[in-house]
Amino acid sequence: MNAFRNNIPEKTFATLNANGEFARLAVSPGMINKHYTPAQFQKIAEVVGEGGAIKYSASYSILLSVPTNGVEQAIKTLQQAGLYIAKQGSIVAMKACDFCDGDKMEAAAITEQLYIALEGLEVPKRLRLNVNGCASACYNAIYDDIGLVYQKDSFDIYLGAVPMGVHAQAGTLFAKRVSIQHIEVLLHQIITLYKDYARPEEPFYKFYRRTNTAAFWQHLKNE
Ligand code: SF4
Repeated sequence: MNAFRNNIPEKTFATLNANGEFARLAVSPGMINKHYTPAQFQKIAEVVGEGGAIKYSASYSILLSVPTNGVEQAIKTLQQAGLYIAKQGSIVAMKACDFCDGDKMEAAAITEQLYIALEGLEVPKRLRLNVNGCASACYNAIYDDIGLVYQKDSFDIYLGAVPMGVHAQAGTLFAKRVSIQHIEVLLHQIITLYKDYARPEEPFYKFYRRTNTAAFWQHLKNE
């Protein structure tokens, strides 16, 4: 019976904000690691306290509602506990699989390099870039705006996925076996096209579907 007990939560982000001011933090153990330690869970409980709320999300993170007036201290405390707090807004936001709990780490170094180079770049609408470490792609990279699937020192790139809704659809293969030496440059070029040619606040999949026959995409493929 617990599966359907308390179907309607007492404290949602909306209900909390009806009676106070709360901020939302998306927290995870890291870009690759998906394992929290008990100490981190204790710290999360401490930061949220009785007044806030904790919710799990579909984006590999836990969403914490904390009082706005204590958010800076909360961020500091969570970061000191080794937790990662995702940046918000219309930016490039990276995701990655857990590389089989650290057993298949071949693509970890290039993933970190891409994170340093691309995470947080401003774009017309939040753009999710998902790196999966093998052809199984079990973290659904091809259902994100830019999906990277690693295979032997290279990536297949998928673009144009509709990640949710009744028209949800996987992205299509844009480039195959792009070397790890070239991937950062190519991703920069894709993101630059999006910034230069998208309409205001146009989601990436709409932009890609509207323009994918344009000469600039062909030009990029042929480089
Ligand atoms: S995508 Fe591949 S490397 Fe990543 S967790 Fe799944 S099986 Fe492991």
